[in-house]
Formats: sequence, structure tokens, C-alpha cells
Amino acid sequence: MIIYPSIEKLLYYAQAHLLLDDLDVIYARNLILDELKLTDYVQYEIDTDAIDEMQNPDAVLEPLVNYAVENGIITDDQRDYFSDKLMNIVIYKPSEVVDMFDDLHAKSPAKAFDWLYDYSIKSDYIKQTRIAKNKHWEAKGTKGKLEITINLSKPERNNKATAKMLDSKAKAYPDCMICKENEGFSNGSTHCRKTLRTIPMTLGGEEWFWQFSPYSYFNQHGIAVNSDHTPMKVDRSTLDKLLDFVDFMPNYFIGCNAALPIIGGSILTHDHFQGGLKQLPMHKAPALKKIKSEKFPYIDMCVVDWYNSVIRMSYTNKENLAECADTILKAWADYSDESVDIIAKTDAQHNSVTPIARKLPDGKYCLDIILRNNRTSKEYPEGIFHSHPEYFPIKSEAIGLIEAMGLFILPGRLDAQLAEIEKFLTKEVKYSAAKLDEKLLPLQPFIEKLVKESGTAKLSQVEAQLNIKDEINRICEGILDNTAVFKKDEKGVAAFDRFLASMDIK
Ligand SMILES: [Zn+2]
Repeated sequence: MIIYPSIEKLLYYAQAHLLLDDLDVIYARNLILDELKLTDYVQYEIDTDAIDEMQNPDAVLEPLVNYAVENGIITDDQRDYFSDKLMNIVIYKPSEVVDMFDDLHAKSPAKAFDWLYDYSIKSDYIKQTRIAKNKHWEAKGTKGKLEITINLSKPERNNKATAKMLDSKAKAYPDCMICKENEGFSNGSTHCRKTLRTIPMTLGGEEWFWQFSPYSYFNQHGIAVNSDHTPMKVDRSTLDKLLDFVDFMPNYFIGCNAALPIIGGSILTHDHFQGGLKQLPMHKAPALKKIKSEKFPYIDMCVVDWYNSVIRMSYTNKENLAECADTILKAWADYSDESVDIIAKTDAQHNSVTPIARKLPDGKYCLDIILRNNRTSKEYPEGIFHSHPEYFPIKSEAIGLIEAMGLFILPGRLDAQLAEIEKFLTKEVKYSAAKLDEKLLPLQPFIEKLVKESGTAKLSQVEAQLNIKDEINRICEGILDNTAVFKKDEKGVAAFDRFLASMDIK
């Protein structure tokens, strides 16, 4: 196979979509030749119209990566690494990306983020075709629509491993997955950030940076990261930084996970926020009841009509708003009410919050404060206010802020598992507990409930899928109920009121 036209196509793609300068084409071509262990070149004519139309570089990268595998330049498991390496030759350097972003940002923050997001897809940093294979559906819940996704590219994490990582003092380079030093880094196979580009910004007087997530949980999903590798925390300075961020990008929401295992994100060792362009289900949840603080009577406050325990507040002045929210952070940090199982601390701190900021259409700053607690008990060794054991086969990972707000990211393994379960419901395979595949064993109660409900009926594939989705939807709602520190029953509501009253909020 003659590989030269494929090289020419990648170069033209980069000129058309990635701002590769004409003056850099020969240089880039020679670097690509070197990666392919070639020392000759013959120029071929190519069809440029087709390349102009491309939404992502799959078609130009694939022949080059195949060539590298077939000629023993890389092994099969290094495909991503190699394609990112080729891409990195033809895309903007970090400084060029920042210059372009800053120019656009001065005119319109939204234009700047739109450009970077599009560039990240065109450069294959965000692997759009792979992400498009993720399953996504909406669930009609009792409190509005939940969104459920099965993410095929994100690795499933384990709460114990996350907690262990926090204690680990072992030095690595980079210190963790989200450190600034990942820009351009790769370990040669599984972890490659060659095409990652970050945007510096100042939050609360500290140096931070923005990067899009390669897993893309939703439209323009990304993280704001502290430039120093320093542990997660939630305090007054967090609130100031979140509110600074929404000035930097008024169209995004941004939230900080609780800084404790079980109720926090998967990386607790490095201070960071998550956000993006999307309105998550909780954002759309209305007020359950209006409340008023004696100390901050001018701030609009309410308890949100949502599964878990959320206080929402909005105001025009971000200093005042942060000050008001900080009184809740401080009060909650020490608040116990054993009648509803809330104990702020034992030998470790258990109460924490998940604050989320955004700007409302009227220009006011808005903070949602989700109250969290990570205590475990004999009955719930994985967490009292965590997904309960019967739901673990669907989701056992920490319920971080994205899920607490109603967008579920379920593990990729479910895709194959659910396809097998479907066959029991269409009666393509007869269900037998004794013959259940090892991989499906943890899901046995889930399967048996569905099989029992379908009875002797031979469901169509569509019906089977609907039944499975309905059951998953019910479980996701159940998980959210589990995370509520104040339950929705009379006892829980009264306990929530007592907590508010303790801060002179009624
Ligand atoms: Zn780090």
C-alpha cells in the first residue's frame, strides 16, 4: 500500500481544520515521515472537498495507524497513542491555543470556549466517534427528568481505591491524572494526553487552568484545575473561586465535589471543579419552599424540590452571596442530628457539601449547596448516604456532583451485560439461575425481577429494552434518594427545618 496520499490527507486536514500554517507543512510532513520510519516522499493529488467536510479526523488517521501496526512500528494497543502522536505534530502548541482563546475570550467567552471545544474534537483529543457510541436516555422521574448514560470509555472506579489514593505518598510523574504536567504527556500506551491543551485563568487570586474532559459526559464538559497538585477542599475560598469562574465563563455551570471519599469525585488528591455548558436536571428543579435568612434577608433562598438536600440562593453581589453560603458550610460542618443518622464527625469528618455555581439569565449569581455526609455503619459499610448495596451492580462508584444533580454516568460494562439480559426477556435464551454467566451473577436480583415481570410473554427487543431502562431509571432515583441526608418523610423534613432554624433561616 502506498501511504503517501494518506500523509498528504492528514496535512491537508490540519490546514483546513486545525490552522496548520502553510509555512509549517513541509516540516510537519517530515516529522510524520520519521514517525512512519520513512525517508522518501512522493507527492500525490488528493480529494480536498471530502476533507473539508470532515467533522473529525477518523478517516485521515485510520490508514496511517493501520500502516504503523502492519509495519511493526507500534503494537495494536498503541493505536491511540500513535494517532495522538501524529496529531500532535500538526496541531497548535499550547501557547498558540492560549493566544487564540484569549483573543476570542476578549470579545466573547462563549465563542472562545466553543472554539476550543471544536478544536478539541477536530484534533481528536475528544474522540467524538467513540463518545457517540455511549448510550444515553432520559428518565421521567418523580422530580423531573433524569438523564442516564452508559459511558463506554471511562474506566469504572472503586471507592476504596480512591480513598487509598488520598493516603498514598508514592511519587509519580505527573503527580496525578489531572496535573498540569499531563499536557503533552503520554506513558506510551494507556494514558495519552499529547493533544491536551489547557487554558490558564485566575480564580480567587490563584492560578488555575481549564481543560475539556476527554470522556465528555455532556456537551462541553470540562474541569477547572488548580495549577498546584494540592488536595481537594471545600471552604469559603472554594465559593469565591466558583463565582469567579462564572464571571470568566457566564454560560457554564461549575461545581466542586465534596472533598471526602464516597461522596466526592474520583480524584481527591488534586483540587479541581467540574462544569460545562449543559443544564443538568437539578438546575431545572423548582423551589420546594422559599426560605429567608435573618442575617442575609436580601438574598433569595429556597429549598430545592429535588431528591437530595439542596439549598439554593441567588444575588447580584458575589461577595455577599459567598458570605451567606459560607455560613451554611460552617454550620453544616459541625451539625449532627442523630434522630436522622447525621453525625458530623467521628474520628474523621463526615459532613461536607457540594457547591455548584452558575449565572442566572437575569445576571444574578446562583449557588446550589447540596448537603452531604459520608458516614458508614454496620448496616451500610459503604456509606449510609451512598448508593445502597442492592444498587451496586448498576452503580457502586462515588456519587459525585454530576450524578447528584441527576445525570448518571453508568459503567461501560453494563452495555454488554444489558444486551445479555435482553435475551432473557425476548426468550431468545431461557433464563436459568444455575446457568447464569459469572459476569451476570451480581445482577441476578435485577434479572430475576425483570424475568418475573415479563412472565411467559415473549417481549420484542424494543419492549425488553424499555423494561430494562425502566428498572435502571427506578434504581437511579433510588440512589439519589439514598444520598439525601434529610429524607422526604415527615421526620426528615422536620429535621431539615431544624437545621435551617439553627442558622436563623426559616
Ligand atoms: Zn495532580
